[in-house]
Amino acid sequence: MPWKRLLVRAYVDHYLHLGNTVTSRAEGSHSQLKSTLRVSTGDLKNVFEKIELLLDRQHTEHEGGIARDQIRSPHTARGPLYCQLLGRISNFALGKIGEQQHRLANPAPLPACTMAFRHSMGLLCAHQIQELLQQNQVFQLDDVHQHWYLKPQTPVTMQPLVLDPVVAQTRGRPTALKPKNCSFTHAANTRQAASSTRRDASAFEQVGVRTRRQAAAAAVETRRTARDRRNCDV
Ligand SMILES: [Zn+2]
Repeated sequence: MPWKRLLVRAYVDHYLHLGNTVTSRAEGSHSQLKSTLRVSTGDLKNVFEKIELLLDRQHTEHEGGIARDQIRSPHTARGPLYCQLLGRISNFALGKIGEQQHRLANPAPLPACTMAFRHSMGLLCAHQIQELLQQNQVFQLDDVHQHWYLKPQTPVTMQPLVLDPVVAQTRGRPTALKPKNCSFTHAANTRQAASSTRRDASAFEQVGVRTRRQAAAAAVETRRTARDRRNCDV
């Protein structure tokens, strides 16, 4: 069936596959793992250590690739149009965008946009590039799927909104209900409620205050009783 490739593409390119349309990568990784293990008779510890070594090596190679892409860029991506993308997305992605831009060099008008490239690769298609060029704009990082970013973008953290603290409701009778002849005390209390940073007393502290008051009242009563007794004796 000579058309099978075109038929499959027509369906597959509606979805984001980022260029992975064959299983050769998974097969390649499987082959690499098998060549690292070498034998099929190793114990679990041996297998674990070899897989760990393989992953470490792949991670190092990946980091090296990122560093290379940050330093060098393809010659098709030179120019102010790419200034926001250089050092931020992979050279492979830059090359793909360059290919799309190259389509504009053809004097013939572009065919209608099917969105297939945009949807399947997460990159700017020739039609988008043409629009941006007409509007005198440059490529933005948001125009590219995060898969192609060299480093993950740090999320923008919202700073907490700082507001004035809520005025605490003090315990006891409201200051507005205090007797009118205590104007000085009332004014002082009002000032304190508005400006004081003293916290409300805990339950055990309130019990302590009550006990001290009761002890003071008892002492006054004892003194009064003793004085009355002395007067009676006289
Ligand atoms: Zn297009």
